[in-house]
Order: sequence, then structure tokens, then C-alpha cells
Amino acid sequence: MSRKFFVGGNWKCNGTTEEVKKLVTMLNEAEVPSEEEVEVVVSPPFVFLTLVKNLLRPDFHVAAQNCWVRKGGAFTGEISADMLVNLGINWVILGHSERRALLNETNDFVADKVSHALTQGLKVIACVGETLEQREAGTTMEVVAAQTKAIADRIMNWDNVVVAYEPVWAIGTGKVATPAQAQEVHLELRKWLKENVSAQVAETTRIIYGGSVNAGNCKELAGQPDVDGFLVGGASLKPEFVDIIKSVT
Ligand code: PEP
Repeated sequence: MSRKFFVGGNWKCNGTTEEVKKLVTMLNEAEVPSEEEVEVVVSPPFVFLTLVKNLLRPDFHVAAQNCWVRKGGAFTGEISADMLVNLGINWVILGHSERRALLNETNDFVADKVSHALTQGLKVIACVGETLEQREAGTTMEVVAAQTKAIADRIMNWDNVVVAYEPVWAIGTGKVATPAQAQEVHLELRKWLKENVSAQVAETTRIIYGGSVNAGNCKELAGQPDVDGFLVGGASLKPEFVDIIKSVT
């Protein structure tokens, strides 16, 4: 069973209208492998979602960087999953470590969001990953398994979930996990899914790596058997994002 390579670009809280338009033009002009070979999803800030959706080539998709945990209503400042669906946005990133750390999003809260987003028809990039202290304490797999278990406890169907393994110590730091370190956790995560969800989910769910991926390190990481693509932060704002998309070949 082959899992389609997936490359996500997390633009985080960056960009002006002009910068976003330039970035989209760069992506639209890029020659990349076909949609059958690689699924590309870019994630601009909320305020640029419609602009990007309207201008971006149809073979690339758009994700929000977050959504609210339940239906809309009296939740000032939040954006609900059904609003995203209403805009024609079909992906959302949930549980990014910046939100877990800075906004105190817990495993349960993230998992509730994943569950709600899926019921509204969104596809989800669910982020998991350990801090440096946790890695040094030897608890990487325990942490990642607990984050994944919270999700597994709430959802029945994994078809629309991509798991992003993003070691916190590698995000935005320039310290990329070695291909062996990434492969080790991806393989363990897949085993966890096999033992705790099902063999079919373990086999078909894409586990992508995120953390200082760039044009120089993507090829070797992409060559690991359990690395099914990337979630890219900083480099997704630069022309090298196209090289990362091409690392599938
Ligand atoms: C991210 O924000 O998901 C990420 C992986 O960032 P960076 O590529 O900049 O480390």
C-alpha cells in the first residue's frame, strides 16, 4: 500500500496582502510533480484564506491554522470549522506545538478539536511532538503516544487525518531531526497505531515530519520509509518550498 506524499506549508502569522500574492504567484508558476504523486496544502493566516483560495492553482489546497473546538456562537475571536467549510477550505492544522505551548492547548482540547473538525467535513493535519526536555528524559514516545491516544479515543475514522510529527526542539530552530531520528519516531508511531487502532489505519495514515525542513535536508528525510511528507514552516515562505515538494521524486 503506498501512501501519497504530502507537503504542507505553514505560513504561521506572516505576510501582507502583497507578500501573500507574490508567494501564490511563485507557487502557481512552479513546475512540480502531479497531484497523483504529491498532495500540496498551504496554510495562510485566517485573513488571507479566501484570497489564497481564489488565486492558488487548483491542484494545491488550502488549510486553516486552527479552528474552534465546537459549533460557532459566543466565542469572540474564534473561527468555527463550519465557517471554514463555508469558505471552501477543506483542511485545518490542529495541535501545533506553538498553540500547545503558548496557548496551553492540552491533549484533550486538541483531540476534541480534531474530532469536531472531522465531523464538520474538514481534513486534519494533527500535530504531535516532544520538547527537548522530554527527549532528553527518554520520554519521546510516551509523549507522542499520549497526544495520539487522546485523538484515537475520540475518532473512529482516520481517512481524513494526517499526523505531523514535529519535535518541538526542531521547529523554527534550524535543528532538524536526523533522518534516523525521524524514521525511528515515525515507525514507533505507526506501530502504536497498529496496536491501538488497527493495522489498516497504521498502513494508510500518512505520518509527515516537521521541524526545520529545507531544500538541503528534505531529500534524505523523504527517503525514510515511514516519512510520508513534511509540514514546513519557515521554508514554506521561500522558493525552496518548491524543492521540498519535489523531494517526492
Ligand atoms: C512548523 O511550524 O510546523 C514548522 C515545522 O516550522 P519550521 O519548518 O520553521 O521548523
